[in-house]
Amino acid sequence: MRRISIFGATGSVGANGVDLIRRAGGPAAYHTVALTGGRNIARLARMARDLRAEIAVTAHPELLDELRDALSGSGVEAAAGPQALIDAAQRPADWVLSAIVGAAGLVPGLTALAQGSILALANKESLVCAGPLLRHAAQASGATILPVDSEHSAIFQALGQDNLESVKDVTITASGGAFRDWPLERLAAATVAEASTHPNWAMGQRITIDSASMFNKAMEVIEAKEFFGLRPDQIRVLVHPESIIHAMVSHVDGGTIAHLGAPDMRHAIGYALNWPARAPLPVAPLDLAALGSLTFRAPDEHRWPALRLAREVMAAGGMAGAVFNAAKEQALDDFIAGRIGFTRMAPRVEMTLQALSARAGFGDDPVDLDTVLHWDREARKETAA
Ligand code: NAD
Ligand code: MG
Repeated sequence: MRRISIFGATGSVGANGVDLIRRAGGPAAYHTVALTGGRNIARLARMARDLRAEIAVTAHPELLDELRDALSGSGVEAAAGPQALIDAAQRPADWVLSAIVGAAGLVPGLTALAQGSILALANKESLVCAGPLLRHAAQASGATILPVDSEHSAIFQALGQDNLESVKDVTITASGGAFRDWPLERLAAATVAEASTHPNWAMGQRITIDSASMFNKAMEVIEAKEFFGLRPDQIRVLVHPESIIHAMVSHVDGGTIAHLGAPDMRHAIGYALNWPARAPLPVAPLDLAALGSLTFRAPDEHRWPALRLAREVMAAGGMAGAVFNAAKEQALDDFIAGRIGFTRMAPRVEMTLQALSARAGFGDDPVDLDTVLHWDREARKETAA
């Protein structure tokens, strides 16, 4: 039986992964090794009981007793804390879904790669802050990384067997998020509640706000460079309010292959779960006649300065991705906590990039985990409001 683990099982992506495993037959179809979560102990315990996991892990040590109680009599082991997450990632599994949010997903993902499984990667932050590290870890153990971001899954599928050399460029679409049509002068006063809504996708709060600011798309541009080995000038962003086309690959011969589908993460997760085969998934069929039309516009970098920052990060190289991601996470924390306004996030990230590049020099430093974690901490300190 195939062994699976889900890191961040209680989140939006993780719960969609659990849903797919349940629909496939749960413990009759898959052997669940580890499920991990945060503060939602009741949800984590319910999932672990349903799938008869070997172990459930909460990231928070102080919640260990609560998790033990919730699992009593189930036969599921309970564990807590950052080291327990790493220990769980060391348990052999054939397929691991990396769906923790933020740089906290980096070490569990690297650990899972070291034991040679398929890593289905939703945690884009780990590619942005340490792409070369992930690639080296996969090469060393023979592990495979599959994309679980919808746009990157779309590129992966549209590429098929095509050689990267025949690719002219790729286009990642963006819905434009909550503030796509807001007058620019209103953005400074946008509230957390307003930024936490999305026109098409149901996602965790952090990525939803990152969609309104386009920091999510900026991260995805860097993710595409790291994942596919594309040049920065080969990665384009296109605003597409309907979120039906997820990405397009344009070839040197003038042809373009697009990937379309309902905005439902279970497609990208299920594709990675069944890869290299395909199997039916609980995703609404595409009805283009009912939609009538699909629309597109060029992204406005005045509205979404994060897109310009992504290009600067790619040009800088080295630790710039780690600094960018951490600064973005800190600015987002400060926005959510009410310490800064919506439009202050991008300038703070830009100031951190400038301040730290003066201190560190970005260049092509060899990437190792300690260096990444060092600049992650420095960037958070520099950005904090
Ligand atoms: P979420 O906030 O809904 O869930 C995050 C999960 O991570 C939860 O299980 C939480 O308990 C856990 N977690 C949070 N902080 C942690 C920490 N410090 N240590 C260990 N565990 C921690 O997030 P999400 O929207 O599901 O996103 C997860 C990842 O997938 C992110 O990297 C996001 O960018 C990416 N992603 C999400 C979507 C989506 O549809 N939600 C789409 C594409 C990519
Ligand atoms: Mg995406």
